[in-house]
Amino acid sequence: MPSTINVKRRGIILLAMMAARTHTSQRSGIWQTAHVASPRPPGVPFVENNCLVSTNPITGVEVGRFQVATPQLVARAVDLARPAAAWWAELGFSGRRQRLARVVSLLTHRTGELAALIHEENGKPVGDATLEVVGAVQHLAWSIRNARRVLRTRRSWAALRMEHTLSIEHQPYGVVGVIGPWNYPVFTPLGSIGSALAAGNAVVFKPSEYTPAVGAYLADLFAQAIPDWPVLTAVHGLGETGAALCRSGVGKIAFTGSTATGRLVLAACADTLTPTLLECGGKDAMIVAGDADVEAAAEACCWGSMTNAGQACVGIERAYVADPVFDAFLAALVRNAAAVRAGFAEEADIGPITMPAQIDIIRSQVTDALSRGARAVAGGPEAIQPPFVLPTVLVDVPDDATIMQEETFGPVLTVHRVRDAEEGLRRSNSTAYGLGGSVFSRSSHGMVIARRMRSGMTAVNGVMSFVGSSPLPFGGIGRSGSGRVHGAAGLREFSWTKVITRRRFRSLIVTESFGRPPGSVRWADRCSRLLHGRGR
Ligand code: NDP
Repeated sequence: MPSTINVKRRGIILLAMMAARTHTSQRSGIWQTAHVASPRPPGVPFVENNCLVSTNPITGVEVGRFQVATPQLVARAVDLARPAAAWWAELGFSGRRQRLARVVSLLTHRTGELAALIHEENGKPVGDATLEVVGAVQHLAWSIRNARRVLRTRRSWAALRMEHTLSIEHQPYGVVGVIGPWNYPVFTPLGSIGSALAAGNAVVFKPSEYTPAVGAYLADLFAQAIPDWPVLTAVHGLGETGAALCRSGVGKIAFTGSTATGRLVLAACADTLTPTLLECGGKDAMIVAGDADVEAAAEACCWGSMTNAGQACVGIERAYVADPVFDAFLAALVRNAAAVRAGFAEEADIGPITMPAQIDIIRSQVTDALSRGARAVAGGPEAIQPPFVLPTVLVDVPDDATIMQEETFGPVLTVHRVRDAEEGLRRSNSTAYGLGGSVFSRSSHGMVIARRMRSGMTAVNGVMSFVGSSPLPFGGIGRSGSGRVHGAAGLREFSWTKVITRRRFRSLIVTESFGRPPGSVRWADRCSRLLHGRGR
């Protein structure tokens, strides 16, 4: 009997995998691709014969093709995931921990292979892709190690309900939908996927249309580590596939992407009141106080704004630098920016702009700023050399320039002279975004400024250091979204709170009955005064 069940389960997995992938074969864990140059513009995914085709952003060589999941296929994937979710939840923390540890181990051993695939499909340098996988592994390992501690049932009591034991439980949603972006195609979705699985959910994952091969690789890896049931299934396609996932009746949607798409996700989920976790864009600022270590600040600012070719939600996009250190900071920054090499070769520091359409947005933001009186002290319009954009630093940018309000997904930074850190804080808080940020100061005032920065996360004397710190929740406020991934808050995001009261003995003061004795109300009132009435 058990073997029959196993065969059935494997059949389900195969079905899900076949639905997700065609024309791309996997041998010894290495992805073999057709290696056919596409006649389309490099890096722009397209649909051909119901298949989503992803190509290398530099060479246009096909990376993989994947069957597009129609709304019916999305619904089928969610249906297949439901029994998987029931089995997974039933395993409990230790059963899940044991199986997810296999995923961690497999991911660790395959880091090089996965990094090569990220490089091929997204274009980022292999070193950055490797660090991305390493970071994802740390968060996944933390989630599985801490899920029991964070989500275990807690008992409580209430003075006027002594006759009941009160328990607070965290139950999984069942099937969770995860919609991911392309800029960190492993780190970002795995933040949600890891927390969701550790909390006892199964996941249906819609990778970005720009990185479906990476998404499929992850789903395959999970299937190899956990062959019993498809606890992670990938569905591929364009925006409609993501929209179908929002409407599929999953227990929760965890979305990471632009603020504009976040609004669409929220609207789609409103129909069914499906809870949403939204990790959207940012317009992060660095504040450099007059007492800052200028060289360290400039070095961190350069990396924070240019890493991943500026395609990071928590990338530094604005720097507010106190007048006494402004000139020294700018000189060091320009020096650092000039040393950044763009390319696809191994020695490159940054890769191409993965989404070709972003190049026009970057160009229009830079041109708009220059037309309003800004100056380029590094890069500028001539730094836009598709598919690359070289580091660009703008000064004298007025606050009404588009670049000051809209997210820039490229290696472009604006630097502003301010009187002091206080003015920097006021101006950094002037956007509707509120994701991350950074403060450089040698004094304890740095912490004060950090606390008052309107953002979900701030690094003092560092940049993005909160991203790789496993216990820390990640997320923003305002236009940057709501909810958290990573850490204990991330685990709680993927479970709903259930309370149970259990009577231990008869009530001394009966209140929950139409037949309550006449003195009950008086006694309840007396007890309440005794407990809380002394503060006058
Ligand atoms: P998009 O918003 O374009 O897409 C994100 C995902 O949503 C993709 O999988 C996309 O599919 C899907 N999608 C598109 N339309 C819909 C729809 N109507 N309903 C449901 N899903 C849909 O973002 P990008 O992929 O361009 O990613 C970059 C953005 O992500 C930036 O704004 C960045 O700041 C943000 N980001 C935020 C992070 C955070 O944690 N706060 C982390 C990383 C990135 P498809 O690709 O097929 O269109």
